[in-house]
Amino acid sequence: MINNNCTTDAHGRNTNPYWKCGSCGTTFQELSSPEVCPSCKQHCEFKDVTCYSPDCGGPGNIDPRLV
Ligand SMILES: [Zn+2]
Repeated sequence: MINNNCTTDAHGRNTNPYWKCGSCGTTFQELSSPEVCPSCKQHCEFKDVTCYSPDCGGPGNIDPRLV
């Protein structure tokens, strides 16, 4: 079964990247940078705030240094 909306790791966790809306500051998981913010519905700049290193938990977590 292929699920296009969700990337999961071996533990079934959602490991999609985290995005932070440059306008309202909402963070959410989406496979790729969205066109419109799901919260404020604006065409915002989205910053990838996903953790890519083990010290903040790896993919599936937000890097606290980026938010
Ligand atoms: Zn927003």
